[in-house]
Order: sequence, then structure tokens, then C-alpha cells
Amino acid sequence: MEPDVIVIGAGVAGLTAAAELAERGWKVRILEARDRLGGRICSVKPEGWPTVVELGAEFVHGGNATLRKALESTGTHLAPVCVNMWTCREGRIALAPDYWERIGRVAGKIPRQDHGWSFQQFLWHQRGHISSEERELARAYVGSFNAAPTGEISAHALRPARAGADTEDFKIAGRYEALVRGLRQKFPPRRVNVRRRAVVRSIGWQAGKVAVQAMNAADGTSTVHKARAAVVTLPLGVLKAGHVKFSPELPGKRSLIERAGWGNVTRITIRFRPGFWTSPIMPAVLGARSGRDFGFVNAPDQPIPIWWALSAPAPVLTGWAGGEMSDRLGSGASWAVMADAARSLAGIFRTSRAEVSRWVADWATHDWRRDPFALGAYSFPVAGREDLPQRLAEPVESTLFFAGEALAEDYGTVHGAIESGRRAAREASAALEAAVLNPIFVPIPPMMSLVF
Ligand SMILES: Cc1cc2nc3c(=O)[nH]c(=O)nc-3n(C[C@H](O)[C@H](O)[C@H](O)COP(=O)(O)OP(=O)(O)OC[C@H]3O[C@@H](n4cnc5c(N)ncnc54)[C@H](O)[C@@H]3O)c2cc1C
Repeated sequence: MEPDVIVIGAGVAGLTAAAELAERGWKVRILEARDRLGGRICSVKPEGWPTVVELGAEFVHGGNATLRKALESTGTHLAPVCVNMWTCREGRIALAPDYWERIGRVAGKIPRQDHGWSFQQFLWHQRGHISSEERELARAYVGSFNAAPTGEISAHALRPARAGADTEDFKIAGRYEALVRGLRQKFPPRRVNVRRRAVVRSIGWQAGKVAVQAMNAADGTSTVHKARAAVVTLPLGVLKAGHVKFSPELPGKRSLIERAGWGNVTRITIRFRPGFWTSPIMPAVLGARSGRDFGFVNAPDQPIPIWWALSAPAPVLTGWAGGEMSDRLGSGASWAVMADAARSLAGIFRTSRAEVSRWVADWATHDWRRDPFALGAYSFPVAGREDLPQRLAEPVESTLFFAGEALAEDYGTVHGAIESGRRAAREASAALEAAVLNPIFVPIPPMMSLVF
């Protein structure tokens, strides 16, 4: 079956686009490089662990209707997140009950008018109105969770979307991958063909035709897949690296891709031995109620500064270093991340690394920076170039369509990726319909006829 549309990438953006296109009656082929679906959603349950470990997305941000609807249809439930925030400086741990309000207050001061400021510049302009402590707090928060240098990320893009917007975070009760499975189950029968281990190398295109060359990761053979249109959902890191060639090169998009913001994250989840919450290394306030009060710990002096215990009472902690903090850690090798984690926890717990290590039973981490099909964690909006994602998302010749978190208004999120997939599917479907009603003759240049 020759498909009408080829979708490149089976993360949530690609799966959503495929489901929408198929529902509108188009035949779709998905080409996915990995041997699994979901991309940067990756839930694993290592042997001997009491909980699922999320190596990619873990939180559901805000009361997002798109994601909630998608989750509800899979029967997945959301669990509230313990929002306790403890700050830890020089080993002194204190509850910061107003942490989230303070972050919100700083964000609320970002001017409505876009001055093209980075977050760092905004803080400088507001130095008379925001205390140095709050500036430091906000800088660490924005840099970490947006995986972005605060000197580059757009302040304007960080303005709270609307007054009273629901910014509460939830965790998926179960595994995030249920969403991936749910999207897959939405495919109407026989309309979507999924090819895994299909590593796309090049996308030949002309108006009304695409020829996508993919290598089979299992045996190295190469296949050319033809269709009338393609939806490209490749992560920005892969586009930046130029690992997929467009032929001819995309008019005007290369420089946008190069300038778009792309950040790193280091994240590790550690399973400790039973008794961890009441162990001699655990500060009493954090171990209280078998870790249920742990919530989040923010220790800006530590190489891995942010920790949470959302699976408590399971003796499991997740550590997070985003943006420049992650870049500073250097090697993403599993043992090196564990060494940094032990150093960080020793600082927080005021004990030795050896003591922390004695309590470690196992750990799980994934190096997204060196993952060849991601080459980084997620995107961020660059100061003064807030229109970049929209420009990148513009279709080319009603033939190439683009989706993925980096092109979404809510960049760096699962719901943003879903919305972008939906938008690209609508655009592609409209273009295919128009072509059916209005067929045009497109002469094939001699160079291209080799591929088509
Ligand atoms: C560590 C981490 C934590 C995160 N935490 C959260 C969170 O808590 N909440 C939240 O909302 N978001 C979070 N995110 C972001 C979220 O995971 C992403 O925004 C979202 O999953 C991106 O979906 P996507 O479809 O755009 O891209 P992807 O999921 O990356 O999908 C793109 C697909 O393209 C495939 N591909 C790449 N190269 C090729 C090729 N050459 N040929 C064929 N296929 C290819 C990839 O394998 C992948 O499957 C996190 C991300 C990371 C890395």
C-alpha cells in the first residue's frame, strides 16, 4: 500500500498526527528509528523496582485540556504531586512554604510588552523591584526546568499565559507510556502502517510528492518510501545535527533550525535499600511519613540541585539538573551521573558519599544528549526570536508539514507536542484534499527523477 502521508517519528506528535490523518481517511505510514514508540516518553520498570521509572516526561503540567482528554481516553488517572519545597544551602534544610508563590510573583512582573529581553536581562531591569534572593530563586528555577541558559531564554515567553491559569502539576498514576499506547489504539484499522527501526536519512521532496529514504537499523538495508506528503516530527536536536538531509534543502528553514533554543537535562532515579526513610543518613524532616513529605528539595550548591520523591513511600528519589547545570556535569555516562548524584545527596544529607552509596540499591538514567534520536532534552524560546517556532512550523509547498514540541506554543511539553501533531495533521489533510479537487501537473526536475 502506498501511503498518502509519511509521518517521520513516533513520539506523541507523530502518533497524534497519524491518528488524526487516518481518522480523516488518509493512509499513513510512520517511520520510527527506535524499536519502540513514544520518543521522549520512556517508562521502564527495572527488575526488582517497586515503581515505574520515567526516563523522559514525568509530569502533566497544569490543567491542560488537550492532555487530559488524551489521557482520559486511555483510562489513565492523574495523581496530585506533593508540592512541599525544601531549600538546602550549606546542608541547612528549611521548608519554603511560599516558594511557588515567589516564583509566580517574579513571573508576574515580566512586562506585557516584549522588549526582546532574556530572563537574565529582565531580572537585571527589575533589580530594584525583586530582592536578590528572589532573583536567585527564579534564575535557578527557570534555568533548571526550562533546560535553558537564563541569558538566552526569552523572558516574554515565560509570562504566565493568563491570570488564574491552572499551573498545578500532576503525575500519571501508572506509566506515561499508557498515553503512547492509547494514541496507538486510536488508529483506525488498516489505515496506519508503523515501521520501527526505520532510520530516516533523507527526505526528497517536490510539490505533491515525497521520497523518504530510511535505513533498517536491524540489517542496514535501505528503502525509499513514497507518498504525497510528509509530516516531519524529528526532535530539534536531530534537525540541528543535520542527520536527516532534505533534498532540496528547506527554503529558509536551516538558519531557523540553527538559531532555535535547545537544552539538556541530566536526570537520575535512584532506588535505595529498605529502611532508607528512617536510615541514619536521612534528615528527619525529609524522611517523615516514609518520605511522603519529601516533595521537592532544591539545593542550588549541589551539582544535581533538584530532587523529588514522588513515589514515596517507595524508597526512590529522582535528581534533576537542567540547562547550564546539566552542561556543567560533562559526561552523561551512567556511573558518572551516579557519582554526581551521590556527591549531591551527601551535601544535602550532610554525610559522606560512601554513606550515601551504601544505601543505594540501583539507579536508572538515560543520556538524552547522546541519544542519537533526540540529541538533547527539549527546546526553549530564544529572546528576541519568539516567532521562530511558528516560522519553523510553516508547511513547505503544501507537501512538507512540521510538528513536535519545539514548534508548539507550549514548547518542551507533552501537551505542546500533541497540539502540534494535531495542527500538522489538519494542515496536511487540507492540502491533500485541495490537491484531490485541484490536481496540478508538476514536472519532475531531472535530478529528482532518480528518487521519484
Ligand atoms: C528528561 C526529560 C523530561 C521531561 N519531562 C517532561 C514532563 O515532565 N512533562 C512534559 O510535559 N514534558 C516533559 N518532557 C518533554 C516531552 O517529553 C517532549 O516535549 C515530548 O515527549 C516530545 O514529543 P515529540 O513527539 O515532539 O518528540 P519525540 O518524542 O522526541 O518524538 C520524535 C521521534 O522521532 C524519532 N526519530 C528521531 N530521529 C529519527 C530518524 N532519523 N528517523 C526516524 N525517526 C527518528 C525519535 O526516535 C522519536 O520517537 C521531558 C523531556 C525529557 C527529555
